[in-house]
Amino acid sequence: MTEKILMHVGPSISNYYVHSAASKTNVGFASKEFVEAMGDSLHGFMELVGAGSDYFPFILPGGGTSAMEAAVSFLHKDSSVLIVSNGVFGDRWEGILSRYPVNFKVLRAKAGRSVDISQIETELSNARYDAVTFTQVETSTGVRMPLKEIVPRIRNLVDLVIIDGVAGVGGEPIDVEKLKIDILLTASQKAIGAQAGAGLMVASSRAMEKLAVESISGYYLDLRNWKDNMKGFLEYKGSYFATPPVGTVLSLQKAFKLIQEEGKEKRFDRHRICADAFRKGIAAMGLELVSEEPFRSNTVSGVMVTPGSSQKVVSEAMNMGVEFASGVHPEIKDRYFRVGHMGWIQPSHIVLALKTIETACEKSGIPVNRGEAEVVARDIFSNL
Ligand code: PMP
Repeated sequence: MTEKILMHVGPSISNYYVHSAASKTNVGFASKEFVEAMGDSLHGFMELVGAGSDYFPFILPGGGTSAMEAAVSFLHKDSSVLIVSNGVFGDRWEGILSRYPVNFKVLRAKAGRSVDISQIETELSNARYDAVTFTQVETSTGVRMPLKEIVPRIRNLVDLVIIDGVAGVGGEPIDVEKLKIDILLTASQKAIGAQAGAGLMVASSRAMEKLAVESISGYYLDLRNWKDNMKGFLEYKGSYFATPPVGTVLSLQKAFKLIQEEGKEKRFDRHRICADAFRKGIAAMGLELVSEEPFRSNTVSGVMVTPGSSQKVVSEAMNMGVEFASGVHPEIKDRYFRVGHMGWIQPSHIVLALKTIETACEKSGIPVNRGEAEVVARDIFSNL
């Protein structure tokens, strides 16, 4: 049986070298091999997100959600948090914070848009908040927050700026030091393109100081328990708090090595060009995207189809060997599906995805302009 092409929103399309690194046998967490993999991954992650010596990194078992929940370590009893939510994953902060003795308010955007910057600025000016959360790329719609515009405008209005970069980091540029972000978190399996199984985070020294005060976090995800462990790995010394995701870390080490070899700017360009070709191909087909301009991400796209037919398109595509993701945003759930174009994405994947969507739509009774998407996409790629 041939292998299918994974264009889900995460785990994203595999790279042979990255994924085979994870399958190495007999690697203990105290071995030189693992300590090096963890040290290289922590340093590689910091380099990717522009975190200098003022930042401290963590690689935790789990994924994006464990990193989100671990961010509670920076809060205290009665802390107030403003959640800026563009969809399902922005709302996940509400699910997490409602389990802790903190106060929060949620600002929401309609599907396909990002919360208005002046609304965020007004809210943070009018009430006192200890932290604000943003989602770099909202995976339920493909909306990218304009963080470069938002963060400088609110930086001095709140103590901690927390960014969920789960569906962006590795594919969209982000520089925590330049933007003065306190906490940036992500997961191993999306635009970094490693195995699933780890949440990654960098925290500013301003955030790290808050760990010293009594925290409301639980036990496993209390960052105070992981801090010395991570400090050791940063210096290539092993230690134990709880078992790390060994295979995932081996694959992260390889992924960061390949990211360094490609160069981050080139990697971001590749994402931008692939996303551009995908979006223009979709338009040429006569279909629409969920995300509106200027909020379209280079890692995830939502494609609108006729009501009730999205599941059929996803299963027709699966029959052709290409896996997309179903819609999840409650406002438009049965009217769209999602495509991940991140990590190790190449032009050939985009052309294949467009051709698959074309046929899957026709089989689902959705009229599309046949053949035009491929021409448009190939034209964009010919300039590479
Ligand atoms: N935040 C965002 C933006 C995500 O896309 C996801 C995963 N889809 C998560 C958080 C949760 O990550 P995980 O599934 O790895 O726990």
